[in-house]
Amino acid sequence: MAIQTRYTGLIERYQDRLPVTASTKFISLGEGNTPLIKLQHIPRLIGKEVEIYVKYEGLNPTGSFKDRGMTLAVTKAVEAGSQAIICASTGNTSASAAAYAVRAGIRAFVLIPEGKIALGKLAQTLMYGAEIIQINGNFDQGMALVKEVANHAPVTIVNSINPFRIEGQKTAAFEIVDELGDAPDYHCLPVGNAGNITAYWKGYSEYYADKIANKQPIMCGYQAAGSAPFVKGSMVDNPETVATAIRIGHPQSWDLAWNVQEQSKGWFDKCSDAQILAAQKMLSQYEGIFCEPASATSLAGVLQDLSHGKIKEGTKIVCTLTGNGLKDPDTAITQCKSTHPVTIEANLDAVKKAILDQM
Ligand SMILES: *Cc1c(COP(=O)(O)O)cnc(C)c1O
Repeated sequence: MAIQTRYTGLIERYQDRLPVTASTKFISLGEGNTPLIKLQHIPRLIGKEVEIYVKYEGLNPTGSFKDRGMTLAVTKAVEAGSQAIICASTGNTSASAAAYAVRAGIRAFVLIPEGKIALGKLAQTLMYGAEIIQINGNFDQGMALVKEVANHAPVTIVNSINPFRIEGQKTAAFEIVDELGDAPDYHCLPVGNAGNITAYWKGYSEYYADKIANKQPIMCGYQAAGSAPFVKGSMVDNPETVATAIRIGHPQSWDLAWNVQEQSKGWFDKCSDAQILAAQKMLSQYEGIFCEPASATSLAGVLQDLSHGKIKEGTKIVCTLTGNGLKDPDTAITQCKSTHPVTIEANLDAVKKAILDQM
């Protein structure tokens, strides 16, 4: 009789493929194993014969895919004797670093751009008790400072330039192949620092090399139009977008991501903020899936490339939804201004009328 053991996290599940040993103490919050949801209504709505799946990473312990990398980065930092971690962040990395630091009993320092981090992410980071350093500058400036200060203080950087972040994050590709039985035809995701697209490609490539997958996907990376260095072909100094998680002009995994594009025969493209928000709303209103704005960039890009015929029909597409919609309540509420609820008297007649008026 098979005994179902409790799911304890992605390091344990994929330990044979991760840089851990029998004596490594795993720092885990039960991350990974996120739902791969097949879209039921959107393909029909846009009149395209495609299977679109979304990997809903917003259901990780702190609400974003960053937890996949953080569980391993913090595990390895602790194994190496580190007492403190540091990161620059647009919000999700700081929330994740803060939580895993608590779990490990070490300290977390996070540099965030003042006024440019979504409310939910700030609330999390405050609650987990990280040392928050707000800077008068953007993510790219924070990242440069973090790299410099790490030379002068005993802190481990847990941004995606930490190779263990990429190792942890590659497990998302393993989960997709394990579930679908093979790699999809296309894998689409939002690109900021481009650590995640690099990680997925690494995961797919390892499974392909070991003949667990029969093919590798075409990797499509989508950026916000105001923050699209990979589309421009050079760094952007003043990135702007409503999708704050990808408001990054100097991507850290620049060369690695160009390799992914070349090897997978994929591409980078951009979507406007309006397209991003429209895709976010579509996922909520037609599929019941609430992701944060940056996450919806993957679907926005797919819709654009399906309409141009660049992504072919009769194919299987996976979009990574990187973070939970609850991360950014302000943007969600602002978007729904025109459908704000009306207030009525608290009696049966008024409620009955309100319902019948809507039917
Ligand atoms: C970090 C993040 C991204 C970007 O990932 P990169 O690895 O920096 O390309 C996209 N969406 C969300 C929600 C994120 O938190």
